[in-house]
Amino acid sequence: MRLLIDNAKVWDGTGAAPFPGKVLIEDERIVAVAPQAEALDASGAEKIDAGAKFLMPGMVEGHAHLSFVDTPRGTWLGELPPEDHAFLTMDAARKMLGAGFTSAVSGAAAKIRLDVAIRDAIDKGLTDGPRLLAASPELTVTGGLGDGRRLHLHQESFGVPVDGPDEVRRMARLCLREGVDTIKLNISGDFGTESAPSEAAVMTDAEVAAGVEAAHVIGRRAAAHARAAESVKRAVRHGVDIIYHCDHCDDEALDLLEGAKDRVFCAPAFSLIVNRLEGARGDNTARGRELAGRMTRIYEDACRAHVEMRKRGVRILVGGDYGFAHNPQGRNARDLELFVRHFGFSPGEVLQAATRLGGEAMMRPHEIGLVKPAYLADLLLVDGDPLADVRVLQDKGRFAFVMKDGVRYVPCEGAPHVRRLH
Ligand SMILES: [Zn+2]
Repeated sequence: MRLLIDNAKVWDGTGAAPFPGKVLIEDERIVAVAPQAEALDASGAEKIDAGAKFLMPGMVEGHAHLSFVDTPRGTWLGELPPEDHAFLTMDAARKMLGAGFTSAVSGAAAKIRLDVAIRDAIDKGLTDGPRLLAASPELTVTGGLGDGRRLHLHQESFGVPVDGPDEVRRMARLCLREGVDTIKLNISGDFGTESAPSEAAVMTDAEVAAGVEAAHVIGRRAAAHARAAESVKRAVRHGVDIIYHCDHCDDEALDLLEGAKDRVFCAPAFSLIVNRLEGARGDNTARGRELAGRMTRIYEDACRAHVEMRKRGVRILVGGDYGFAHNPQGRNARDLELFVRHFGFSPGEVLQAATRLGGEAMMRPHEIGLVKPAYLADLLLVDGDPLADVRVLQDKGRFAFVMKDGVRYVPCEGAPHVRRLH
């Protein structure tokens, strides 16, 4: 299969200005990129006239939860039988591809094998979706984020409660045996968890060290839910590779992140906070006002931390914790607007965070995230200029196509969310 995308406005992801150009694709890879005026041997290739539309690398979601299927409570995920849950996960994967995301780093699965199964099904071509790095469920301490149990009531949620380094190690090894690429550790609590608030680092040093070691010893990665300053420090000190949230960073935490900036990735998952805050502001009950106060503090802390992290050159991924009722799947491109509006990113910077940096986070910087020869043909052809207004990427109707591995898809409303063009 040879395909020439002719007459495009090519933004290659390196930070260079877009230029009128053409891109030649053979099977799943880009083989040539040239300015429009230059000759290019495209004999035998099918030719597409891009009509001067914006051609860019496919986006990479840095904090995906494909098996979080927009339920209002975590325990509702626990109630889903695995068979049903797998199909709902498949639906979310198609939705994400239709939203322009051709790769995704998972931030956790709701059951041990869900990410692994959907990753493998996508790779085998059994269903459509972003190429995925699969994560474990959230390993969490008793009473931590994702422990849905009560003393009188056993309930599963999206977390697997483990206490002490031995239990963390055993569960991490079990998840690794089942094929996950990433072990997820909930080091801090969260804003909705009374027994583990977002400012508390509830997972101990020894527990974090055990989880990270289990992953690293076989060359896989560890990721952390870390809102509290101390949880960020604990994550950096024990070698966690991807540190999510980082809201309540103090100066020492920021210094540690800066010192590890060539090793760690961060992703704020900020859409969740913005949506919860907006929702709470519209609720004039005592509970609504209390939540609004709490969400305002975390919102302000997250903004302060990420403005500073950006200045210090910490690698911040686009990734938004989509998959909750108040932050549904498929709206992932909204993150780009939030980075510009709240964290001081320029459109070009956030586009690179969503593409080039995403390729690094996928551990494939030599073939994901740029429009360059030898890279995978993961491309978006967009009617609009995201460098002028990143919000155009939120409108699926503007995608002439989403290409992954050289295959063109057109987003559509409702399931199956994307249709293959050939
Ligand atoms: Zn998450």
